[in-house]
Amino acid sequence: MKFDGTLYYCSQCRKIIKTLDDMLFVEEGTPRGFCCESCIESFYAPIVLHFEELEKQYRRELNLNNELCLTVLHSPTTEEESGESQWSLLMDQAIHHPDEIYRSENQLKEEFFVLIKHFNDPNWGKFSMLIMSFLFDQQVSFILAATVTSSQTFLDRYRFGEKQQMDLQSPDASGVQKMDIDQETIEMLDHKKSVFLAEMIEERSPADIPIEQFNLYDDYFVPTLEAPDEIFLFKDREGDEIYIYIKAHDNEGVSFYYVILCFKYRSNMTNAQDTVLPILAFPTVDGEIYHNYRRGTLITGQLKN
Ligand SMILES: [Zn+2]
Repeated sequence: MKFDGTLYYCSQCRKIIKTLDDMLFVEEGTPRGFCCESCIESFYAPIVLHFEELEKQYRRELNLNNELCLTVLHSPTTEEESGESQWSLLMDQAIHHPDEIYRSENQLKEEFFVLIKHFNDPNWGKFSMLIMSFLFDQQVSFILAATVTSSQTFLDRYRFGEKQQMDLQSPDASGVQKMDIDQETIEMLDHKKSVFLAEMIEERSPADIPIEQFNLYDDYFVPTLEAPDEIFLFKDREGDEIYIYIKAHDNEGVSFYYVILCFKYRSNMTNAQDTVLPILAFPTVDGEIYHNYRRGTLITGQLKN
């Protein structure tokens, strides 16, 4: 085959990459492309280390080595063997729904972002998570550093650059089709949907919102997913972790709950790009149904009696 003169190669290992489509990018607007995930990690490892050292230095200077909220890093998982921690769930929220975004740019027009998300948690009180990362296509593409703090002084040191008014791509229904979800996962989700739907129908009281009116409540789906009052995590009969997002709403004076059951899909793309896939969503005015779906461990939200 004749070489046509178009040359692409990995910025880390310099392996020749056949086409642009085969290249992986994490930074917007730079030609830095990679052949694989591990090359991305090796390339940025010194930068990750730089930010680790910076955090250590700041914590020493501000005497913040033993902040209570740092224990969220070692928070217990729902089951001993489960790898899913509260940390990764909080991280997920910070990545998709940050409260503050800052953009830093150097003279070479290279940029990175700081995302800050504030939490008020029953276990750790008020604290903020901060994430330093690259964005690609308005999504976190590579995380350079992530930590938590309750100190405003510490947080202020990371508010670099310009504050941005932007919405990151959120894991709403429209985000689902953009991903490559394997056939096995689609079948598994379909199966779970029918199990949970059957359960929900069986428990449902005749006085509750009729199923044929569910579509009138579709507008409450995204607000519930983006800013839930509570998130619970439990294991279903197959041993899979299911997240339940619940939010109380008000529609013309009638209060109701919107409940979304989700499965966390681990994408094999860049780090921490898990996507929450909704399995079943429904409204209810029934307090009993609401209590029934507050199952497993409360991940975020206030403890209620
Ligand atoms: Zn490479």
